[in-house]
Amino acid sequence: NEITREKIVDDVKKENVRFLRLMFTDILGIIKNVEVPVSQLEKVLDGKMMFDGSSIEGFVRIHESDMYLKPDLDTWLVFPWEIETSRSGRVARLICDIANPDGSPFSGDPRTNLKRMMNEAKEMGFTSFNLGPEPEFFLFKLNEEHEITENLNDKGGYFDLAPTDLAENCRRDIVLELEDLGFEIEASHHEVAPGQHEIDWKYADAVEACDNIQTFKLIVKTVARKYGLHATFMAKPLFGINGSGMHCNMSLFKEEKNAFYDESDERELSQTAYQFLAGLLHHAPAYTAITNPTVNSYKRLVPGYEAPVYIAWSGSNRTPMIRIPASRGLSTRLEVRSVDPTANPYLALAVMLKAGLDGVKNEWMPPEETCDNIYEMNEHELEEHGIKSLPTSLHSALKVLKSDETIQSALGNHIYKNFYQSKMVEWDAYKASISQWEKDNYLHLY
Ligand code: ADP
Ligand code: MG
Ligand code: MG
Ligand code: MG
Ligand code: MG
Repeated sequence: NEITREKIVDDVKKENVRFLRLMFTDILGIIKNVEVPVSQLEKVLDGKMMFDGSSIEGFVRIHESDMYLKPDLDTWLVFPWEIETSRSGRVARLICDIANPDGSPFSGDPRTNLKRMMNEAKEMGFTSFNLGPEPEFFLFKLNEEHEITENLNDKGGYFDLAPTDLAENCRRDIVLELEDLGFEIEASHHEVAPGQHEIDWKYADAVEACDNIQTFKLIVKTVARKYGLHATFMAKPLFGINGSGMHCNMSLFKEEKNAFYDESDERELSQTAYQFLAGLLHHAPAYTAITNPTVNSYKRLVPGYEAPVYIAWSGSNRTPMIRIPASRGLSTRLEVRSVDPTANPYLALAVMLKAGLDGVKNEWMPPEETCDNIYEMNEHELEEHGIKSLPTSLHSALKVLKSDETIQSALGNHIYKNFYQSKMVEWDAYKASISQWEKDNYLHLY
C-alpha cells in the first residue's frame, strides 16, 4: 500500500471528515455505497464492516447475506465539497473488495474477479495491463421539478471553441474537480453530437483504471446536478445523432517496457501485440454482451454514427472495431472502439484481458488489416474478406456468450450465471414492451 493507515487517520482530522463512504460495484456496474460516521473509522480500516449482500442485485443468496467490506487503502479520497448540513465537514471514500463471512474473497465481486484475471496475466510474465478509457456522455437539462428532460443544453459540435454555455463551464468544473482528486486530464472536449462531451485522462493499471472510471462517473453526475443538468452515460440516448462510446486503449507492460512495442517489426508491433489483437477479434462476439450490456447499447452499434459494426482492425482508419493508434514506444496500444460506458468496467476489462491472453497463449495471428472503408463494402465483399458483424442485439450477444467458455471463465461461475440471468430478464421485459416506433408505424397502417 502507498497510503498508510496513519495518513488516513491524519487526513480525517486535518480535513474534518465526518462520513466515510465505502464503495463497491455490483454486477450491473452500478456503484453501491455504505456510508458510516467517522466514529467507525477503526472498524472500517480493520475490514470489519459488514453489509447485507442479499439487498444487492445479483450478489448472493439470502442465507449468506452478511458480507465484509475490505477497504483498499490506496483508493482513499476526501471529496472536495463540503457536506450540505448545518454542520461543516467532508465525506471521504474508500473502494472496497467484498469478502465472505469466513474472510475469503467473494467470487461475485467484479473488482475481486478482475484481480483474479490480473493474476493470470502476471503468471504469463506481464506486470501490468493498462487501460486508458475515453468515456463520452450527454448533458440534458433538468426542469424546475429537477426531473430529467430530453432537452440538450447546447448545439455545439466537435471541438467547438465558443465557450458560450452552461455545458462548457460545467465541463471545466468537472475537470477541475477531477484534477483535485488526482486525475491527470489529457483531453476534454465537446463531441460530435450536440450536448455530448468526452474527457480523457492518463491510463493506469486495470484495477486502478476501473476505479477511476467509477469515480469519474460519480463526479460527472454530481457536478452536472449543480448546473441543473443531468449527465447520462446511456449508450444511445437520442435517435439520429451519435451515441456514447467508451473507447478502451489497452497495453501490456513487462516492468517498464511496453510488451506491444517492437522496433524491428514493419509496424513496430510485437508478436504479443498481434496475438493479443487476434484474441480480441476472435472472442469479440462473445464478450460484446459484457462490453455492451444494455438493450440500448445495440442501437449505438449501427452504421453511420462512427460506432463500429464489424469485427475488423486497422492501423490507419477509424471505422473498424479495433484501431492501432499511431503512437509507438510506451504508448503502443490497441484501441477497442465498440465498448460503451454502460459496461461494468471491471467485467469489461476481465473479458477483454482474457480474450487477448487467449490469443497470446495460442499464438494466434490476426486476419488481414482492413484498409478500405468497410461501410462501403457490400455483403459479398464483406464475406470475401471474412469480416463478421458484431452481435446486433443484447439477445444475440447473450447467446454467443453462452457458447464461449473461455469468456465465461473470465467472469467466474457466480458472475456469469447472475449476469446472464439478469440480462435475460432485461431482454424479456424489453421484448414484451411496445415502442413508440411501432405505434407510429402500425397503428394507422393496420
Ligand atoms: P483518441 O485519439 O482515440 O481520441 P485519446 O488521445 O483521446 O485517443 O486517448 C488516448 C488514451 O490512451 C488516453 O487515456 C491515454 O492515457 C491512453 N494511453 C496512452 N498510452 C497508453 C498505453 N500504453 N496503454 C493504454 N493506454 C494508453
Ligand atoms: Mg479521445
Ligand atoms: Mg484524441
Ligand atoms: Mg470520442
Ligand atoms: Mg478514441
